[in-house]
Amino acid sequence: MTLQLFDTYERKVRTFEPLKSGEVGIYACGPTVYNFAHIGNLRTYLFEDLLKRVLIGNGYRVNHVVNITDVGHLTSDADTGEDKMELGSKRTGMTAWELATFYTEAFQKDLERLNVRSPDIWCKATDHIQEQIDFVSDLESKGFTYCTSDGVYFDSRKLNNYGYLARLDIDGLQAGARVNQGERRFVTDFALWKFSPEDEQRQMEWDSPWGKGFPGWHIECSAMSAKYLGDFFDIHCGGEDHIPIHHTNEIAQTEASRGSRLANFWMHGYFLQMDNAKMAKSSGEFLTLDVLIERGFTPFDYRYFCFTAHYRSQMSFSWKSLEAAQTALSRLYEAFASWGQAGDASEEYLARFHEFLNDDLNMPRALAVIWELVRSDEPDEVKKATLLVCDEVLGLDLADWEPEEVIVPDEVLRLAEDREGARQAKDWAKADALRDEISSLGFAVEDTREGPVVTKS
Ligand code: AMP
Ligand code: ZN
Repeated sequence: MTLQLFDTYERKVRTFEPLKSGEVGIYACGPTVYNFAHIGNLRTYLFEDLLKRVLIGNGYRVNHVVNITDVGHLTSDADTGEDKMELGSKRTGMTAWELATFYTEAFQKDLERLNVRSPDIWCKATDHIQEQIDFVSDLESKGFTYCTSDGVYFDSRKLNNYGYLARLDIDGLQAGARVNQGERRFVTDFALWKFSPEDEQRQMEWDSPWGKGFPGWHIECSAMSAKYLGDFFDIHCGGEDHIPIHHTNEIAQTEASRGSRLANFWMHGYFLQMDNAKMAKSSGEFLTLDVLIERGFTPFDYRYFCFTAHYRSQMSFSWKSLEAAQTALSRLYEAFASWGQAGDASEEYLARFHEFLNDDLNMPRALAVIWELVRSDEPDEVKKATLLVCDEVLGLDLADWEPEEVIVPDEVLRLAEDREGARQAKDWAKADALRDEISSLGFAVEDTREGPVVTKS
């Protein structure tokens, strides 16, 4: 069973073969840590977690690198506007450094709660300033840069395949965007190093051969991926918004400097939409994992919710669909918990489950196989053993689930006792009235052979 993955660069599904036998290097663009991650961002990290688990399931050792953008990402992807970190510092009153630590930790906590496997390497842009300066110097020595009054820029016309990843219509872009071009020679040129503004003291700035300033946003990923994974590695991931600018520019820098391709596969997670609009941190209107938890959902409910759409299709968020995911997942947990001891797994179901995942991570179809198994006539111990294996990819921690402990208030227990007394006395009208009272408090009484049992309704 070969692993098939969609490669954005070639715009087709290709058979995955690692560059080094048995080992896979993955670089995933991490968050810009000026605010909390929203559930859209988290969808992208859940997709990358799925990819990693499927690779591990195929027997590969995965070296997974995620960066933290803590400097240089400007409010406009076109290298204008303020640095998001400096802006976040003004918004919160924290220093840019404190802000970075605070939101990095919040992000890592979100991933942990979602049961996303921790990357092997976390790397921060501000810890790799020298590597970025060296990269820009190398590009300069090869004639790919020029200086303007506000920074050092990459000369995109020096590369004949610039923009191939996004199939950019370069001439169309140039015709449409002269206004925003500033001193850049061409609309697709981008900043490698920006000078600190003269009229404002930046919190994050460094000396460089070109003057005091800070790195452009894209250079960190070319420099850090080369450092940790080499110049040409297996898979580069990110959200679909990175295709036309960020990843396009990472490719340009690496091809110009190293003369090699950056990654063998380019994979992109598609957006989570809210009310048909993109969910964006910059708009200030977004949902975080904490908001979901406040509304009574668990991180696993959101994990399961993301499984219901293919990573290459956009997905709409609604509370209703999250509730449906929660209900389905509770059923799965309850079924699993009711099955007793695990026996031997069903090879047939496992094969079908993995076959769908190896078909470009088709989780919705793989999930359908899980439900088919749950409803099948297979013995419980087979179901349990099979799901345990599947859970290595699902990451739902099925075996750790325990039914929520219901604390019944004393008042409700007293009402239940009174009702039982009324029943014994055959006072059915009183018993019914007490049942209604119990129900109005959010509980239900069930009469079992062992006596009445109170549950949450
Ligand atoms: P950022 O922190 O904005 O750099 O984004 C972190 C990651 O989330 C990147 O891989 C983005 O492509 C991705 N992303 C941003 N917005 C969304 C969204 N609405 N849905 C899914 N992924 C997103
Ligand atoms: Zn990146």
